[in-house]
Amino acid sequence: MKLEALGITKTFGLGKDHRRVLDNLTLKVEFPHVLALLGPSGGGKSTLLRVIAGLERPDGGEVLLDNEPVPFRDQPVSALRTYRRRLGVVFQAFNLFPHMTALQNVVLPLTAVHGIPEKEAKERSLGIMKRLGLSEHGEKLPGQLSGGQRQRVAIARALAVKPKFLLFDEPTSALDPEMTAEVLSLIAELRQEGIPMLLVTHEMGFARKIADQVAFLANGRVLEQGEVGNFFSKPQTLEAQRFMAKVLAY
Ligand code: ADP
Ligand code: MG
Repeated sequence: MKLEALGITKTFGLGKDHRRVLDNLTLKVEFPHVLALLGPSGGGKSTLLRVIAGLERPDGGEVLLDNEPVPFRDQPVSALRTYRRRLGVVFQAFNLFPHMTALQNVVLPLTAVHGIPEKEAKERSLGIMKRLGLSEHGEKLPGQLSGGQRQRVAIARALAVKPKFLLFDEPTSALDPEMTAEVLSLIAELRQEGIPMLLVTHEMGFARKIADQVAFLANGRVLEQGEVGNFFSKPQTLEAQRFMAKVLAY
């Protein structure tokens, strides 16, 4: 699978509050790999991930998945919805519906978005939840689950749609260390299954272990991209060197 973001520009706000968050950004990557997207806070990582996921429309530039442009401007909007359905996205803050059980949270996108019959959706969801060690928790509400369990439900929901591509935005940043380990080991298992992944993370040790490639994003641009070992041992740009010195000293 090939992903290209070409000349992406995204600004927020107007007048003097206007802010260019992605600045003619270019990123090209060939999966079946894990790409870790690293960089300082506020650099534009989440915005880029949302653009790639088809959740945010760029002001300029285009995203191509396997040479197919993401239809940000096409009418009907359903073309963009179709694109989004092929992806699984996991955010920092779970985004589960609090009034629905864990199982209902996994089933809902299958029935409501993908039009899969209830019975089949439920069977598929139960299978995935079992695989992720969630069998005992299907009937619980998100509020009755630990943070790590909630994030596993969010991952189950992303996987249930059989995505072509998984995107994670700091999936462990709201978790304590034990829960973090639990979720990271699950992501490592998914890597074994060969699902292409784009992972924004602060967990440098994990990024180093799991990623094949690193893209370093700061000030709205990808300043460097390369094989993970090279990036960690010898970042090329001054910005990346400073960033790594800071995070590794911590
Ligand atoms: P990162 O994930 O690397 O920390 P973000 O993409 O979240 O960076 O944010 C980059 C910048 O864009 C930040 O200054 C943030 O405040 C701003 N930003 C992000 N989303 C919005 C939005 N919807 N409206 C206004 N500003 C935003
Ligand atoms: Mg972010």
